Parts: sequence; C-alpha cells; structure tokens
Amino acid sequence: DAKGRGRNRVRFFNQHMQVEVTERTVLTNRLRQAMEKEELYLAYQPQFDRRQGITGAEVLLRWQHPDHGHYAPADFIPIAEATGLILPIGQWVLQQSCRLLADWAKEPGCQHWQLAVNISPRQLHDAHFVEQLTAILQQTEAPAERLLLEITESQLLEDTELALKHIHQLAAMGIRFALDDFGTGYSSLQYLKTLPLKQLKIDASFVRDLLQDSSDEAIVRTILALGQSLELEVIAEGVETAAQFKALYQIGCRQFQGYYLARPGTLEQLYQHSPSHPG
Ligand code: C2E
Ligand code: MG
Ligand code: MG
Ligand code: MG
Repeated sequence: DAKGRGRNRVRFFNQHMQVEVTERTVLTNRLRQAMEKEELYLAYQPQFDRRQGITGAEVLLRWQHPDHGHYAPADFIPIAEATGLILPIGQWVLQQSCRLLADWAKEPGCQHWQLAVNISPRQLHDAHFVEQLTAILQQTEAPAERLLLEITESQLLEDTELALKHIHQLAAMGIRFALDDFGTGYSSLQYLKTLPLKQLKIDASFVRDLLQDSSDEAIVRTILALGQSLELEVIAEGVETAAQFKALYQIGCRQFQGYYLARPGTLEQLYQHSPSHPG
C-alpha cells in the first residue's frame, strides 16, 4: 500500500543520505592527509593572446589518490572549503605559484608571463591572508604584478567589506585581480566600479553555444564592450573549437583559454606551447 511504499522510500532516502555522509567523512579524512602524503599537485593551462602567443597560465589544483585515482576539483574543493582545509592547501598553491613566477622572472623567454591562481572565499575572508601572501612574495621574491588572483562574484557577497579590504590591500602591493566565471553569479556592476580589477573571464557556459545561441553571443559582446569601456582585459574560458575561437575573435575577444588551444598540463607541456620556452 501507499503507506508502506512511503515508509520504504523514507528508509531508502535515509540510507542514501548515510552513504553520502560516510563518503564525505572518508573524503575529508583523505584530504587531511593529502598534503603531507604529497598527493596534491598543480596543472597549468596556458592562456593566449590574439596571435596565439602565451601570456601565462592558470594554475589548477589536482589530487591523485593512490586507491581512488583522481578526484575532481568540483568534488573536493567544496569539502576543502567547508572544513577550512582550503586555507593550508591554498597557501601551498600560492607558494608553488610564486616560486614559479620567481623562476620565470629570470628567464628571458617568459619574463612577462603571469600566473592566474584561484582564490576561494574562505581565503579571501581569512584575517591572515594578506600577511601570509606578503610573506610568500618576500620569501620567493616573485614579482607581485605577475600574480593574478581569480575571484568570483559570489564570494564577495558575504562580508563584502572584509573581502574588499583585503583585495585593496593586495592590489596596493601590485597584485592583480580577475573576476572568474563572469556573468554566472550575482553580477553586480557595482563590483566592477569598486574593485581594482585587471581582467574579466567570460564563463565557458557563454562560449559553449556561442554559434547557436544569439543570446549567448549578445552576452559575450556585452562583456567585451564592458571591458573596453572600463579598460579591463577580457579573456574567454572554455574555448573548445576553432569555430568558437574564430567567432570570439570576430566579435573582438583578444585573449583565450580552452582545450582548443591547450589543455591543463605539466610545466613541460606548457613550455612546449611556447617557441621561447626555458625548459
Ligand atoms: P575555473 O577556475 O573556472 O577553472 C576552469 C576550469 O575549466 C578547469 O576545471 C579547467 O580544467 C576547465 N577547462 C579549461 N578549458 C576547458 C575547455 O575548453 N572545456 C571545458 N569543458 N573545460 C575547460 P578544473 O581544473 O576541474 O577546476 C574546476 C574549478 O575548481 C575551477 O574552475 C576553480 O573554481 C576550482 N579550482 C581549481 N583549482 C583551484 C585552486 O587551486 N584553488 C581553488 N580555490 N579553486 C580551484
Ligand atoms: Mg579560474
Ligand atoms: Mg572559470
Ligand atoms: Mg570557478
């Protein structure tokens, strides 16, 4: 009867939830150990200018677990966020990134390359974030102007004042900021006015159907126009095909990132995309 089925459904739902909770606990424990076991590493996805020359790379966190294999950032970053583990992990990402920037500064072929590093809301709101990043820059002697921190609109929503204070302090040190996944969050034009931004990243979701969907094209055009009038760089994410690249170029986009040009890979792979690579 219906009542019986209802009860079964409730029990099934609870078991399902139980499985999820257990998986989350397992994942949290594994993530706790991931750093000391050196299971985390970084991938680098090149970013390109209009002539398809490299301007730098976005740093993307990777986790290779010995039993499970790869965990996707979409699965473990929310857990790192919720548990606070993103703080030490994010520190490590910044440390590695600044070391690399310092190395590049000595290489004629890639002196001008920049590194884009994703920053989570938890980091941006952390009371020690500014002082820790200052220390990393001093230790590594990385050029601050080559560091591009990627933030999202949604992360500015909670305790905006503190986040803005940190952003302005870091910008005063020469660090640059990009607004990631632009157009997908609670886009407030107010942010564009108040933030010391260098770059807008057109979200991949607008690039995907650019050729089929005229509203996506209209949105991309609008973001490009916005960038031009506010004197911000605009980069398109998730460029997967030659046709998308051409269409973006035709409507005025001059910076690109995506599988069509290069997938995230090792440093060696990054250097292979550049005629003047150091490696
Ligand atoms: P994101 O910052 O928007 O990064 C771009 C994502 O799109 C990356 O996924 C990249 O591998 C993927 N991608 C690049 N080109 C293409 C393309 O042509 N087609 C498609 N379909 N995808 C493409 P990934 O590496 O899985 O990272 C997912 C998200 O995880 C990132 O989105 C970012 O929000 C977060 N993330 C990654 N690394 C870090 C990190 O070190 N710290 C923090 N806080 N978040 C990170
Ligand atoms: Mg990003
Ligand atoms: Mg993005
Ligand atoms: Mg993102």
